[in-house]
Amino acid sequence: MSEHNKIYIDPKTGEKACKCFKRCGGCQHSESYKAQLERKQQKAERMLSKFCKVNEIIPMDEPYNYRCKVQNIYGLDRSKRIISGIFQSSGQKMVTVDDCMLEDVHAAPIVRTLKKLMKDMRISPYDLRTGKGILRHTLIRTSPTTGQIMLVLVTSGAMLPSSKNLVKALLSAHPEITTIVQNVCPDGMPLTLGKRSMVLYGSGHIEDELCGCRFRISPASFYQVNPIQTEKLYTCAVKAADISEGDTLIDAYCGTGTIGIICAKNGACVTGVELNKSACKDAAENAALNKLENIRFFNDDAGRFMQAMASRGEGLDILMMDPPRAGATREFLGCTAKLAPKKIVYVSCKIETLERDLKTLTRSGYKATYIQPVDMFPHTMGIETVVGLIKKA
Ligand code: SAH
Repeated sequence: MSEHNKIYIDPKTGEKACKCFKRCGGCQHSESYKAQLERKQQKAERMLSKFCKVNEIIPMDEPYNYRCKVQNIYGLDRSKRIISGIFQSSGQKMVTVDDCMLEDVHAAPIVRTLKKLMKDMRISPYDLRTGKGILRHTLIRTSPTTGQIMLVLVTSGAMLPSSKNLVKALLSAHPEITTIVQNVCPDGMPLTLGKRSMVLYGSGHIEDELCGCRFRISPASFYQVNPIQTEKLYTCAVKAADISEGDTLIDAYCGTGTIGIICAKNGACVTGVELNKSACKDAAENAALNKLENIRFFNDDAGRFMQAMASRGEGLDILMMDPPRAGATREFLGCTAKLAPKKIVYVSCKIETLERDLKTLTRSGYKATYIQPVDMFPHTMGIETVVGLIKKA
């Protein structure tokens, strides 16, 4: 362990804690995991029990090291040694972190090796203030089910000194890495990816398995960061949908198609709608990877798409919706009433917008029959919730 290691056992809770708490912005709770779950349960009940009984929140068995997407920035300390870390919760300063209790355990050793190699191979860390330097940040994506690991080296220009030797040395120290990609990002916000990528080793993507389906994750793909809890979340969503063979189902805000693909595998005829073009392309590739033909994807605004369906007089059996934190738009909710699906499954990542949207849906003829919170992000405030609604007779 290095001098920057900040994980310790808190004598108050007897559980893991981190000295970077509050500064780095990763963890937002400093209480025991049990107390965190109670706090989340109370909040869910306070906001949602007016719609229907709220089930007990589904916890994470081992609520640590769950983040399968790890990003690190690099810099120099006073003695010009290369250091790594993450951005402070406020501002653009770096908090040096060599070990994090939320990140997948495979990431930190790779970052430690990389820092040594950067020194040997004269790969300088990029300095945001001066705009000089080579390595802007790294992105490590891992899959707990396939064991595949992707390292993305995000550089300020196409030049990466000794790239062949760097890859060789990385693989020799970490044979567990299955692919290495260089992404060129000359400008833009910190931690973003540029348009150009070069595969330095392997296939350029990793695959993960959820609910019996396989998903391809490229450097820029959206993928839930906690796959262990995601499987529980999706299982609840599919249970709430209670699919019969041949049911027509819309997966609105479908991202890379994960939920829709699992529903198609369960017999539904699925139409996925997603605003982000590259996520939509990933979704089509994921459907092919799972050899599914009863699913198609449209790159469109979900509200506009539903509006067009309603004006054509079309209907559907099940609406699956997983909007971003802002929740669904008024247009989207208005069209839902017109399309009149028999069932709606709302997967929410923000309880405040969920409450607002449930008020609208329950006023337009739907009744909530199932509310299941899932703890997707232990040690943070986030609560993910699945709500099942049925159309009142
Ligand atoms: N269901 C997916 C993604 C959920 S995140 C999963 O579980 O992985 C929400 C998604 O909604 C993002 O992919 C985002 O690009 C998309 N999105 C945001 N606004 C949208 C809109 N107006 N219409 C369609 N999709 C939208």
